[in-house]
Amino acid sequence: MRVENTDKPFEIEVKRFYFPAILYATCPTCGKECAKNGNGDYLSYPKANTPTKVYFYCQSIVDGKDVEHEFTEEIILRVTVEPVKND
Ligand SMILES: [Zn+2]
Repeated sequence: MRVENTDKPFEIEVKRFYFPAILYATCPTCGKECAKNGNGDYLSYPKANTPTKVYFYCQSIVDGKDVEHEFTEEIILRVTVEPVKND
């Protein structure tokens, strides 16, 4: 079998798309490292093969107070197809 991939962007029509990665990003407001685990935290109708926004929620303590910050980062979710057996 032979596969010809394209890197054309397309929407993945899945409301809750879980993915096998953990994303780490630094909150631009307080500098805390935040994580987003694709195993429990899904993307909704993500676009593949093109930059797509990921939302982070930072829960932190500043001057003894609980604070929440929201920020976004961009990732590229690439979808490729490969044959199990090459001819
Ligand atoms: Zn923060």
